[in-house]
Amino acid sequence: MVDRSVANIVLFGPPGAGKGTQADKLVNEFKLFKVSTGDLLREEIKKKSALGNKIKSIIDKGMLVQDNIINDLIEKVLDKKKYFNSLIFDGYPRNLSQAKNLDKLIKKYKQKLSCVLSLKVDTDIIVKRILGRLICSKCGSIFNSFFSPATKENHHCGSKFLQRRSDDNEESIKNRFQIYNTETLPILDYYENQKLLHEIDGMRDISIIYKEIRQIIHALESWLYNVYLYK
Ligand code: AMP
Repeated sequence: MVDRSVANIVLFGPPGAGKGTQADKLVNEFKLFKVSTGDLLREEIKKKSALGNKIKSIIDKGMLVQDNIINDLIEKVLDKKKYFNSLIFDGYPRNLSQAKNLDKLIKKYKQKLSCVLSLKVDTDIIVKRILGRLICSKCGSIFNSFFSPATKENHHCGSKFLQRRSDDNEESIKNRFQIYNTETLPILDYYENQKLLHEIDGMRDISIIYKEIRQIIHALESWLYNVYLYK
């Protein structure tokens, strides 16, 4: 059988770069599944378990949750047959040790990483994106009060469900940026060396960014097709 589908994808970028928005579009078009470690951690917080409370205090400060907690969450997802080679990682890996762990798990579960899509956005735009971010607690849609506000046409749940994230405040943003620059950015070299990295200007319109991402993925699909066809 000729396997033409893309394999797992990492969406990379600073907080507020628009990874979640682009991931949601990819999920719809390419029948992929999004795994956002931030969302998984927020689900744990909702349970109000001891672990959830510990995680909340770390997230609210804008620090990184311990690698062992994150790696366990990721392994549970990679282990599921339903998600085989169909995952978009949003917010993971966030440091070199997590990137190496992802490689290890991908090998263990006999899967592939097809590309790392890195969204590049200037800091001043990102701060506005984060401070304007509103998430619907009912349907999960992401809006922005500055750039893409919710309206009666694009959102039917009602404004009462729109919420800010508790870590979308200036103090936490400062920490998240600092950690991104010191711990997360060095991963790019790691993926560049593996020839998996694609850098994308993330400051353009959402639909234009998505168009470029689609082109990258379609090019990868035909590349995979040729590899399988002529081997
Ligand atoms: P996000 O939703 O991706 O912006 O993540 C929100 C917060 O969750 C981050 O600021 C971290 O505190 C925590 N977090 C999310 N993903 C990770 C990860 N891969 N490693 C460590 N902490 C994470």
